[in-house]
Amino acid sequence: MKRSDNNFKAFSRQERKEILSELGQPAFREKQIFEWICRGVLSFDEMTNLPKELRTELSSSFGFFSASVKLVQVSEDGTRKYLLEMTDGNLVEAVFMKYEYGNTLCISTQIGCNMGCVFCASGIGGKIRDLEGWEMLDEYLICRKEAGEDINHIVLMGMGEPFDNYGSVSDFLRLVHDPEGVGLSYRNITVSTSGIIKKIPVFAEDFPQVNLAVSLHAPTQEERAALMPVAKGNKLDDLIASCREVSEKTGRRITFEYALIAGKNDREEDLKALSKLLSGMLCHVNLIPLNPVSENGLKGASREAAKAFAEKLERAGIPATVRRSLGQDIDAACGQLRKKHT
Ligand code: SAH
Ligand code: SF4
Repeated sequence: MKRSDNNFKAFSRQERKEILSELGQPAFREKQIFEWICRGVLSFDEMTNLPKELRTELSSSFGFFSASVKLVQVSEDGTRKYLLEMTDGNLVEAVFMKYEYGNTLCISTQIGCNMGCVFCASGIGGKIRDLEGWEMLDEYLICRKEAGEDINHIVLMGMGEPFDNYGSVSDFLRLVHDPEGVGLSYRNITVSTSGIIKKIPVFAEDFPQVNLAVSLHAPTQEERAALMPVAKGNKLDDLIASCREVSEKTGRRITFEYALIAGKNDREEDLKALSKLLSGMLCHVNLIPLNPVSENGLKGASREAAKAFAEKLERAGIPATVRRSLGQDIDAACGQLRKKHT
């Protein structure tokens, strides 16, 4: 059994059992190794309950990590932005953030992104490749190790469109949830999509407990399509209908992300259209002043304007909050750090 870079984590648990069986080992060795991997050890040698010869044999035949830390930027508010270098030399971003409810890691699902949203740095240059589920797990393990703190929430809001890499994202969700490993609760994970409608019911069926966030950013089809090309083939009315359907089915609140762009989507008429669009839905609007990305010339609304927008939405019966803007001093808008280093 071979994988291109022979990384042991690239094999499924079943495949790992077969490899170990070929080496004359009992099946429980796989469980032991998986537990060690998820505890965050850096080599087979640290797996002290394995026979010494087996550790040597595995070390000589297999690689261990798919990535290493190339750069960490630490913000005054405790945010840590990571630039990870994958074994093929590509760069991936992940961000560690401290919230009242616990430590959160923002994970990338692709290298680059093909969706081309005009306000986003991750889309500049398109998609280079998808990340595998175990590479996403490595993002988690490596950042947790470097931060030296437990991480009990994950958001898939880094580079990439999770629903454009659904198979690997599903692998990752199952891996990080596996009670024999990290054992993270599905309720502590959020997947954010730019709105690939056909995957929404599939996701809700496969992972009813995982939180769904949808990047809305505009309350009309026309405005949205001007900001997000994905909206051309995924019409706003159909998107909202699908969200209504799954939230009713799962009983879970959907988060709508809305980056406020001065003079573009933060006007009184936008507010009215947005309130009407989401009226009566089990949802929550997460407002954030747009993080400026030098390439597109768009300006974020002020924090005060964002707060006023949230209050008016609340008054119209739509739950809304302004997201705390963490790591402003360290290029926290996704894709910016990678772009600087490629
Ligand atoms: N591709 C997915 C998830 C990654 S992007 C998606 O689009 O939902 C995570 C969030 O950051 C999305 O809501 C995205 O629209 C938002 N975002 C991207 N660039 C931004 C910027 N410059 N300022 C504020 N939010 C931004
Ligand atoms: Fe891709 Fe999301 Fe950025 Fe759009 S906002 S380009 S979907 S990462």
